[in-house]
Amino acid sequence: MSNPSLLILPGDGIGPEVMAEVHKIIDWYGAKRGLTFDVTEDLVGGCAYDAYGTPLTDETMDKAQNVDAVLLGAVGGPKYDDLDFSVKPERGLLRLRKEMDLYANLRPAQCFDALADFSSLKADVVGGLDIMIIRELTSGVYFGEPRGIHQEGNERVGVNTQRYTESEIARVARSAFELARRRNNKVCSMEKANVMESGVLWRQVVTEVHAAEYSDVELSHMYADAGAMQLTRWPKQFDVIVTDNLFGDLLSDLAAMLTGSLGMLPSASLGAPMANGRPKALYEPVHGSAPDIAGQGKANPIACILSFAMALRYSFDHGDEATRLEKAVEAVLADGLRTADLMGPDGGSPVSTAQMGDAIVKALGASL
Ligand code: NAD
Repeated sequence: MSNPSLLILPGDGIGPEVMAEVHKIIDWYGAKRGLTFDVTEDLVGGCAYDAYGTPLTDETMDKAQNVDAVLLGAVGGPKYDDLDFSVKPERGLLRLRKEMDLYANLRPAQCFDALADFSSLKADVVGGLDIMIIRELTSGVYFGEPRGIHQEGNERVGVNTQRYTESEIARVARSAFELARRRNNKVCSMEKANVMESGVLWRQVVTEVHAAEYSDVELSHMYADAGAMQLTRWPKQFDVIVTDNLFGDLLSDLAAMLTGSLGMLPSASLGAPMANGRPKALYEPVHGSAPDIAGQGKANPIACILSFAMALRYSFDHGDEATRLEKAVEAVLADGLRTADLMGPDGGSPVSTAQMGDAIVKALGASL
């Protein structure tokens, strides 16, 4: 059987710096666990624009369509701010998401005990938290027609349309149930069925998909506003939350910040299953290219490393190795190692990007 394939797109700013640490981890898995990936690396964002005059070439797009998973660092930077919208670095990322039809955005909120004090919530509320928000990414009110601003009599009116088809709801519901089966087997679906017809349909379709295909998974429903309250009151009651584009935008940011720093947050965007049964997938840290610290060895590589852990679990069927990697991160944090973004107000001496990566590789070694 051929090795699983991985396309790595480090991108701009701190992207290449954090990706260098992922390379160390990939090398470790090859050397110590016999887990070898066919890795190809390519350009995306500003660096692709510099080389080819476009933030994503057709060749790179083709590669992305034909690998088991894509891992991206970050794109953008002040150098590209004045470029025409059509060739801005972010367009490269948007093209990947659109052409791969990545409709399910996964944002885990995971709180390592050592960082529980970083949260604005009490440590016992967030310590050990591990939940997953799945946001529908390609439809809903951000895309629905009609939209625009028009004149009505003597005033302007702004219009956006919340629109969901049955199939759009069903496919993201399936993503949620599939993920729940690999986790704690619980899905909570959130909408506003009390005031929105699209919410009524959302609830009906999720219930139908559940009954027909996933009755082994525990399903509950919650209004999204109540969901926001419950997420801050007692987030550990959830396992997987599935919701639409707008509510997911808000709820995933809320949940992510329960756990502290931007440098810690991984994400994944999944599409339809490929011939091998695994979903099309793009993994990336939530953070951007952080131009203010780029090139200084200060970036926290953990968000990118945890994005690779998600790839291990959701694209490569190595949930056990994903857990090993997450535990290695946890062990390093428990030992007190901190990059600059994780330092408390009383200071201390931060480690560099490379030192953090090396420590995680060492902790992986200790796990054997
Ligand atoms: P940003 O996420 O790059 O940075 C926000 C703040 O968080 C900065 O102070 C930065 O130093 C810090 N930070 C971010 N990641 C960090 C890490 N791993 N370790 C330590 N500190 C970290 O957001 P921004 O400043 O709004 O945007 C900078 C550029 O990145 C812009 O060009 C923007 O368009 C782009 N961007 C790209 C993506 C992406 O590639 N997915 C996402 C967001 C922003």
